[in-house]
Amino acid sequence: MRKKIVAGNWKMHKNAAQTQELLTDLLAKIPTETTVEVIVAPTFINLAAAVTKLEGSAIEVAAQNLHQAESGAFTGEISADMIKSVGVNYVILGHSERRAIFHETDGLIASKVDTALEHDMTVIFCFGEELKDRQSGNHFNIVENQLKDGLFHITAADWEKVVLAYEPVWAIGTGETASPEQAQEMHEFIRETVRKAFGSDIAEDLTILYGGSVKPDNAKEIFSKPDVDGGLIGGAALNATDFLAIVTAI
Ligand code: PEP
Repeated sequence: MRKKIVAGNWKMHKNAAQTQELLTDLLAKIPTETTVEVIVAPTFINLAAAVTKLEGSAIEVAAQNLHQAESGAFTGEISADMIKSVGVNYVILGHSERRAIFHETDGLIASKVDTALEHDMTVIFCFGEELKDRQSGNHFNIVENQLKDGLFHITAADWEKVVLAYEPVWAIGTGETASPEQAQEMHEFIRETVRKAFGSDIAEDLTILYGGSVKPDNAKEIFSKPDVDGGLIGGAALNATDFLAIVTAI
């Protein structure tokens, strides 16, 4: 069955005290009856505290990245085993900021996907075109290549541990969203691409999130589209009221 998910990517925001504050607020305000899976992704240093704080609640915790190696001389990096060892089972991979600022290639992201899956983690795989790609009409090609080069080496069974997040780069943190029609058109294309390679069962069960300036006032319209199964939220995830308004917009 296809799951609805709303995930909040906190990026490099919120220190230890602010993390506790936001989690307290989320726990106080989250509706008791929700069919949506809610995930938050604080910074590495606050993951363990977040897991403790959210124990027994309906909110899951994700890391924002991992290193592909098991361990070794990789100063400043964090392994899948370390993340798992504090009780975190989800990881965001391939975010456009990792691709653009930290030069992560499709090949590198593919090896991070492998590591995450070997550790039985669920991957939130992000991808999406830049403005120049959309303007030149090349956006479908770009998205298809990112998907194939970063993810299509996995097995059919691995798809149970994969959530896709289509995030057009031009809509991230810019206040500009894809229109609901643009989101639906691309999500339909993505599902079709997965269907062709892995079959209908996997494609139909696959959760495809939209990310890019989702806010309380535009979430309902975007989520109303049949191939949009939730959202990956940046800025609006830093405030409990806004984030939960998005969660309840599904
Ligand atoms: C993101 O960073 O994944 C994102 C979607 O950010 P924002 O909602 O701020 O555009």
